Amino acid sequence: MIVTAKTRVLTLLGDPVGHSRSPEIQNAAFAEAGVDGVYIAVRCAPDDLSGFMHGLARAGGGGNVTLPHKEKAAAVVDVTSEAVRRTGACNTFWGENGKVHGDNTDVDGFRRALRLFLDGPAEGLRALLLGAGGAARAALLGLLDEGASEVSLYNRTSERARAVARRIGGQKARVVPLMQELAGESFDLVINATRLGLDPKDSAPLDFSILGRAGAALDLVYGKHKTSFVRAAEDRGIRTADGMEMLVQQGAVSFERWWGRPAPTDVMRAAIRRSLGR
Ligand code: NAP
Repeated sequence: MIVTAKTRVLTLLGDPVGHSRSPEIQNAAFAEAGVDGVYIAVRCAPDDLSGFMHGLARAGGGGNVTLPHKEKAAAVVDVTSEAVRRTGACNTFWGENGKVHGDNTDVDGFRRALRLFLDGPAEGLRALLLGAGGAARAALLGLLDEGASEVSLYNRTSERARAVARRIGGQKARVVPLMQELAGESFDLVINATRLGLDPKDSAPLDFSILGRAGAALDLVYGKHKTSFVRAAEDRGIRTADGMEMLVQQGAVSFERWWGRPAPTDVMRAAIRRSLGR
């Protein structure tokens, strides 16, 4: 890659950013697609976010926003996608006609990964969704937009799940304050959108026996090793996958917003595998 004075700068803004795999993934994609861009990670304080986003977008660039700034970024952008409005979070921005545009590509990234995982549409699906953070919000919106008929939400802090259900779920989201309330119920799909499952010291995100009454189990957590959730699903012989494909697909949607062309997903997937060491 040759960086010149014309090269477009795309940045990841967050704090911390040192752990991020996005520079490896996006720079591999830029090289494969032959676009004149460079992707870097910049540690950014909350007070600097608006200045960075506006300045970069005005200069023809853009980027991603990660923790803890996704909600703040939603308020910074001039033009918001429906995904940003409905989730209250923005993870991708770029400049267009003098304005800063923002999207939350976790939503479309989740939808694409879900379709690949199910090998078909999610129409009529009954899902159990664990968590109430950013990943869960994207998954809830994605499930409903894909046609899920009912999503049960369980989170350690049930008030957070209620807020997410109120904001995004409408009539189709139901909050389950206690796992015991699910006794005897079965689900087409269980999704783990909590942070739990990579560290051997983590508690289980749910009583894994529920997976015995599930058709499939999708984890949004990803890492070098299998998560406890994926292993529990495999033990029960049900279809399962971790969050790697969603990571590929949300990066691909960001690429498409910046460059207006399809992303080289095979190269991005290979870059992630290399970066995760798997
Ligand atoms: P977040 O906003 O911080 O939310 C964390 C969630 O985990 C909350 O629901 C939290 O419950 C729950 N949690 C944390 N510790 C817990 C514990 N000890 N017991 C029970 N629940 C616990 O994080 P996020 O951004 O949603 O990310 C969640 C996971 O999804 C992360 O592993 C992240 O890497 C992954 N993710 C993957 C992708 C992808 O592309 N594959 C995209 C986004 C995120 P409380 O509300 O009770 O605290």
